[in-house]
Amino acid sequence: NGLIVSFGEMLIDFVPTVSGAVAGPGLGGNAAFIGKLGDDEFGRMLAGILKENGVSTDGVTFDGGARTALAFVTLRADGERQFMFYRNPSADMLLAPHELNFHLIRSAKVFHYGSISLIAEPCRSAHFKAMEVAKDAGALLSYDPNLRLPLWPSAEEAREQILSIWEKADVIKVSDEELQFLTQTNIVDDECAMSLWHHNLKLLLVTLGDRGCRYYTKNFKGAVDTYQVKTVDTTGAGDSFVGALLCKIVDDQFIIQKEERLKQVLRYACACGAITTTKKGAIPALPTHSQVLTLLDGPKRTRRSFSFRS
Ligand code: ATP
Repeated sequence: NGLIVSFGEMLIDFVPTVSGAVAGPGLGGNAAFIGKLGDDEFGRMLAGILKENGVSTDGVTFDGGARTALAFVTLRADGERQFMFYRNPSADMLLAPHELNFHLIRSAKVFHYGSISLIAEPCRSAHFKAMEVAKDAGALLSYDPNLRLPLWPSAEEAREQILSIWEKADVIKVSDEELQFLTQTNIVDDECAMSLWHHNLKLLLVTLGDRGCRYYTKNFKGAVDTYQVKTVDTTGAGDSFVGALLCKIVDDQFIIQKEERLKQVLRYACACGAITTTKKGAIPALPTHSQVLTLLDGPKRTRRSFSFRS
């Protein structure tokens, strides 16, 4: 199996009504995480959770002087989240280029990252270096900006930095809200999504919550429905969606070139995203293969319009 290496931050999500839920890279299969944790109970707990889920921690370093990042997440009645972050600075922001596990990065077939690691030095330089090394070694670069606006000094800075690495990615996944933010348009549609296309891109995905997702490649575009579930918390749906997609792409990059095969994989990814919304927290709700197969036979949600989630 090809190796998926995920670069970035892990943090502790405190979700009201449960003692603690953890959001992580959400990647099954042959996966590794690169990032820095605090040398504290929370850091050790996160590393333990990676290991329990079969994710290599060979790229994880611990900082003796800084704490693991914390996020307090409040859930609105519709299952959407509001974040409050404690990072001043947290250990993830202190990962320096010389601490990177280059051997691990060079063995990645897929190198996946977000944008939170672009906010502060030295992690920003480490992010650039890791991307460059992965690309030179022939990895497919996968980018999920995962916009967390409260962490940035300003919205302008966030947009500028997120777009500064846009053209390096082979696969990009954004949510409808991120699409709106990045393109600065009120109404998102295919034209708006295509304005984010770049000449080296192989696949652009826009996730639409309970409306499924839309996909764009050089040769075709379309929509895939998601599945009907009882949603209680949307935390981790995007990560789970991307994780499932990358697990398929890592072993067969030609999926992107064949529309029917891509749609099949995206249905699988939507089912994974849907299952993740049925439990509080991200990791406790990670889908199993058999749960996904059961859902794939179940009723679909057929609201595919590009209009915003309600
Ligand atoms: P997050 O930031 O919460 O991790 P996101 O905003 O990046 O997520 P979403 O669009 O919310 O990503 O979800 C990703 C995918 O998960 C969707 O494309 C969809 O297939 C599935 N999904 C999300 N929410 C629901 C839901 N309420 N019902 C069914 N499927 C859902």
